[in-house]
Amino acid sequence: MTQNTSSDTGSGLAGLEARLAEDLDRLALPAKPWLLAHSHEGQPVLDVAVIGAGQFGLAACAALRHLGIEAIAFDAAPEGLEGPWATTARMETLRSPKELTGPALGFASLTFRAWFEAQFGRQAWATLDKIPRLQWMDYLRWYRKVLALDVRNLHEVIKVEPLPGGLVRLRMNTPSGEIVHFARRVVLATGYDGLGGRRLPAFVDGLPTDRWCHSSDVFDFNRLRGLRVGVVGAGASSMDSAASALEAGAASADLLIRRHDIPRINKVKGASNAGFMIGHWDLPDEDKWRIRHYINVQQVPPPRASMLRVSRHANARFHLGCPVLDVQSVADGLRVVTPEQSFTFDFMVFSTGFHIDWSERDAFAPFAAHVRSWGDRFLPEPGQEDAELGASPDLGRAFELQERVAGACPGLDHIHCFNFPASLTHGYISGDIPGISVAARRLSEGIASLLYREDFAQHFKAIEAFAEPEVFGDEWTDQRKQKESFPS
Ligand SMILES: Cc1cc2nc3c(=O)[nH]c(=O)nc-3n(C[C@H](O)[C@H](O)[C@H](O)COP(=O)(O)OP(=O)(O)OC[C@H]3O[C@@H](n4cnc5c(N)ncnc54)[C@H](O)[C@@H]3O)c2cc1C
Repeated sequence: MTQNTSSDTGSGLAGLEARLAEDLDRLALPAKPWLLAHSHEGQPVLDVAVIGAGQFGLAACAALRHLGIEAIAFDAAPEGLEGPWATTARMETLRSPKELTGPALGFASLTFRAWFEAQFGRQAWATLDKIPRLQWMDYLRWYRKVLALDVRNLHEVIKVEPLPGGLVRLRMNTPSGEIVHFARRVVLATGYDGLGGRRLPAFVDGLPTDRWCHSSDVFDFNRLRGLRVGVVGAGASSMDSAASALEAGAASADLLIRRHDIPRINKVKGASNAGFMIGHWDLPDEDKWRIRHYINVQQVPPPRASMLRVSRHANARFHLGCPVLDVQSVADGLRVVTPEQSFTFDFMVFSTGFHIDWSERDAFAPFAAHVRSWGDRFLPEPGQEDAELGASPDLGRAFELQERVAGACPGLDHIHCFNFPASLTHGYISGDIPGISVAARRLSEGIASLLYREDFAQHFKAIEAFAEPEVFGDEWTDQRKQKESFPS
């Protein structure tokens, strides 16, 4: 792609950055800081600590800063490698349409489109089909830079401890050793799998670890050259895994698909509109569950282009109605049993998604047992049982966690769940790109409101102590005083 040299979009990235700065200036953003300084055990308390600097963590920091609240994001990954885009994702392009505005927070100059056009021109935008995966990562790197967000990379949060009195203690591993921060509010922007990890079938337990991986693992697919590969699943990631294996020279890729047909209709796309994004929060519980369960059952189809990327290889085979019943390690590989036939593979990729399982996140052990999930208080209609939804955290308006037993874990509600598992409570705004700005605004306004309420007594005192006159007494003449001076 050629760099934009024409003036059709201003003067490249520098011009765009100047326009953005002007937009922010006109809107008087960021708002002036208004929070009171707090300290604990001799160190300053952070107003908001965000765990994770993927697209949701970045948007959360930006939205908070616009409200005059400083937020620091901590991410275990090296700079520029946050999230899956440049590490474990294997698709050529994003699934989402290129027009999505993602984390732009209502600023045209902060959209992917503006960033793209500034560099490559409007003509290139017009002919662009989908957003190339690595270009999305480049855009996120720019977003962080142009907004000057405070992100600390190589900071892995290893313990999150809510404390009585409204603070949360964070322990983290950093390049200079273990450190501790205290924060008034902590945002878990830890990703799709952020409250658990890889969902894996039970039979994986006994298999040799060098013969399989999960589609989200960091794994060099060049290792699959010449091998017979089995891929379990029919979602986008299974297509990406099979295609990557074949492109790396795998001898064959067999996709083992439980369903008798591939889902063809993307119900989330059909449902997406402003009401769906904004209104889910206000739905009755029954309707929240109903729509999430319906979409779970319908399943989102893999992108057509991803399927074609697989099927253009003659050695790709799709096996429908083929649930894996068992896998055993044998002399020449992995023996896979399905209802109608058996297979032998050298290597298997489990594209089986993610699940909520707090026990897989040691960092959350201090509070996990106290988190109220939907399953703790909501009984679905018969036929609508759904383990994933039952495990979803039952959140407040600002995405805050709530206690299973009132009073059992003070401070728990100072931790905000800002990742895909929040979607039963808040709708499809906390996992995928289209809803990021809606979610970031809701989170930031909710946190601003809670912080204001917590400090209300001091804010009130500050109002009482405020003594900056706007009128000085020399602007008028009091008729009574005039009469005293000049009696008739
Ligand atoms: C392969 C793949 C393809 C996708 N494609 C699309 C798509 O086309 N369109 C779409 O809308 N959505 C897509 N999604 C869904 C979603 O947009 C992505 O998962 C996205 O990365 C979610 O953003 P996030 O900020 O929530 O999480 P992430 O981008 O995963 O960021 C989370 C960050 O948290 C950090 N972290 C986690 N735990 C800790 C800790 N304890 N300490 C410090 N840091 C921590 C991680 O290092 C990571 O950088 C895709 C997802 C995947 C997995």
